[in-house]
This record gives sequence, structure tokens and C-alpha cells, in this order.
Amino acid sequence: RADEEERFARGHPASADLAAAADRSLLAGVPMPWMTRWPGRFPVFVESAGGARLTDVDGHEYVDLCLGDTGAMTGHALPQVTEALATRAGAGITTMLPSPDAIWVAEELARRFGLPAWQLAMSATDANRFVLRFARHLTGRPRVAVMDWCYHGTVDETLAVLDGDRVVPRPGALGPQVDVAVTTAVVPFNDAEALDRRLAEGDVACLLMEPALTNIGIVLPEPGYLDAVREITRRHGVLLVVDETHTLCAGPGGCTVAWGLEPDLLVVGKPIGGGVPVAAYGMTAEVAGRLSGPMKGHEIDVAGVGGTLTGSALALAAVRATLSTCLREEDFAVAIPLAEQFTAGVTEVIERHGLPWHVQRLGCRAEYWFCPPPRDGAAAAAAVDEELEGFLHLWCLNRGVLLTPFHNMALLSPHHSAADVDRHTEVFGEAVAALVA
Ligand code: PLP
Repeated sequence: RADEEERFARGHPASADLAAAADRSLLAGVPMPWMTRWPGRFPVFVESAGGARLTDVDGHEYVDLCLGDTGAMTGHALPQVTEALATRAGAGITTMLPSPDAIWVAEELARRFGLPAWQLAMSATDANRFVLRFARHLTGRPRVAVMDWCYHGTVDETLAVLDGDRVVPRPGALGPQVDVAVTTAVVPFNDAEALDRRLAEGDVACLLMEPALTNIGIVLPEPGYLDAVREITRRHGVLLVVDETHTLCAGPGGCTVAWGLEPDLLVVGKPIGGGVPVAAYGMTAEVAGRLSGPMKGHEIDVAGVGGTLTGSALALAAVRATLSTCLREEDFAVAIPLAEQFTAGVTEVIERHGLPWHVQRLGCRAEYWFCPPPRDGAAAAAAVDEELEGFLHLWCLNRGVLLTPFHNMALLSPHHSAADVDRHTEVFGEAVAALVA
């Protein structure tokens, strides 16, 4: 890893200069704290990104398998999106009044996910915060339940893991600012009995979960588990919130449509705006019927959630352009076979070297992890090896392939080619050969 760090530092003098300048005025030298997690002594500064390519300020071009950690899952700077944004920007970005695109967006989300009522948010973190607030208000119960080693953004109550039977703050999380032992119930993924036991205590408002864990490798649900989750939550009067922010990689309707899930509420963020900060959350008619604006005379005045820039004309134009032109069945039909090719290539390397690793795929997302397929988040967390991860990341980066940092994750889009995937397989194979030599 030290050699790769050295090679990276030598090859990126312009990024190094900018990083030094950034250190003088930006906390931690980056405009968003998670960016400090990039392996290497400083991050790559980006000059431009287009399609599935990214160019840095030193003039290196990368095959971008990170795609903004899902924020640009459909590809960078697609003309149909940038043109819609330019048109909208020229007609007013934000007014705190609805633009007509709002109706198109809500109808399209309703059609895709089978949930009739929608709201906008600035980010998936934001949407999750709102949804948790609704769930507590509707049920009158104080706690939210999440899966062990989940990630739903920097929502205080969700930054929790299990330590034996105790709920404790997630390692490395700043804060959280709430006492998670009081606000949160944590259950292991793929364990329906544990969920049933915990929800039977009667203090949980909602279960917020991804259909497959995607923030600790990819951990798939075992057969029957998600059906059991739905039955158990219903039986205990607990709202089921599905967070499709990452699992939208499974197809245009995420895992909800692909696997026939029936959430009470659904959150979708990152890719729906083609890179513009926006998210949305939807709900059943039953939930919506109890939540409405003051003009409608329903039970709750929803004005207690949202923000000044939420649902802006620019965000709505971005979602409209993205959903209508690049997050469609035909786009997944191109991207998913590339992800299959990625998985096959990585599997071949792992098997050739007899390593106890695996690669998991969900739709157009694939990720390798340093253990056999784990059953839950704790088992996956036990296999985290930041040193090894950093080495593989830097090795690929130094050879023109950009993986997502802090996971060995790849997203494939219609803008990648089979040759791009082969390039990853080649450099990954060389990295592993260097490791085992
Ligand atoms: N939900 C899931 C499942 C996520 O993986 C993330 C971020 O990785 C979020 C929510 C938060 O998204 P954002 O950081 O865009 O608010």
C-alpha cells in the first residue's frame, strides 16, 4: 500500500497542490467530510466528468465505477439532463412555489413504485429524517428500528449498532447527538425471529431498512425473509419503510418492484436527480390519508417537515429528465449485463487464487468483500480490512479505474463498455497477483 500511495502522490501533483490549498480554508481539506475517507494522502481533484469517464486536474482519465457513490448512477453530464437543467435554470431555480414538473414527477414515482402519494426532500438523509418523524407521530411510539450495520445517511437515530444485546453508537460516527439506546432498536438482518421478539415490546414506530444491505458489502435477504418482515411489522402495527436509495440499482422500481415488496413508506434518493441533490418519499393511501396539509383538513399538518429549497423547480426538472430518459428498463438492460461481466471477472480472479473472498451483485451494482457471503451486517463488518481495501483502491486508481472508496464497489451504467469492465478485471487480477506473490 505504501508503494501505491507513493505512486499516487507522484502522479498527482496538481491534486496535491489543491489539497494543500484546500487545507487552509476547508475543514479537513474537503467540501464534504466523508471525502476524507478516500484512500491516499489526498483526494483526486476532478476537472470534469462525462458519461462513465472522469478526468482529474492532472489530466488522468478514469473509468468511473464509483459514479458519485450512486449519486450519478445513470452517468455524468448526460446532455438530456444538462439541457433540461439549463432550460430550467434560465426560468428560475427556486421560488418556494410548485412548478408543473412536480405533478409529472409524483405521477411517475407513483406509477413506478405503486405508492400513490409523494413528497420531495433535499437528500435521502433528509427524507429518512422526515419519514421517521411521520412514523413516530402516526403511531405515538418513541422508537425506530433499523438493521445492524445499516446506513441511512447521517440520521442521528440510525447511527447505531448492536453490541451484544445493547444498542450503541455506530463506531466512527460523530455523535450521535441522541441517546440511541433510548431512540433506536437494532436487529440483525436475515433474522425474522429477532425482529419479532423486538417488535413485540410495542415501543417501535417503524422499521427502516434496505431490502438488501448495501453499505457493508452487499448482503442479500435469504428466501422468505422479506415476506416475514412484512408479516411481522403488520402484526405489531409497525410501519415498514423501505429505503431504496442504493437498491434502485436493482431496476427502475428498485427491489420494491423487482421483489414484490409492500412498504408503507418508501425513500428514494441519490440517482433520481441525475446528480442534482434531491430525494423523494412515497406512502400508501392509508398513510397519506392521515397526513395532509392544513387546506385538506386531515389529522396532521405536514408543514413541520421540509425546507426552503426542497422541491425546487431545478430539482424537479432534474428528476423529470432523469426518470424519463435514463433510469428506465432499457437502461438497466444495458447496465446489468455489464455488472454480470464484472462479477464473473472478479469471481474468476478470486477462484484462481483460492481466496476466501466473494463478489456480490444486485442489479447494476457489484462489490467484492474479504469473506464468504455473510448472512448479516455484523458478519460483514468483521471482514472489513481497510488496509487491503485501500491497497486495491489505489492500485486500480493508479491504473485508471476508479472504484468507490470504503467499499470495493462498482456501479455499471449504459455508458460503460465491455472493455471498461475488462480493464477492471485486468488491474484487479494484477493487484491480487501482487498481493499473493
Ligand atoms: N440511504 C441509504 C441506503 C444510503 O446508502 C445513503 C447514503 O449512502 C443514504 C440513505 C443517505 O444519502 P445522502 O447521503 O444522499 O443523504
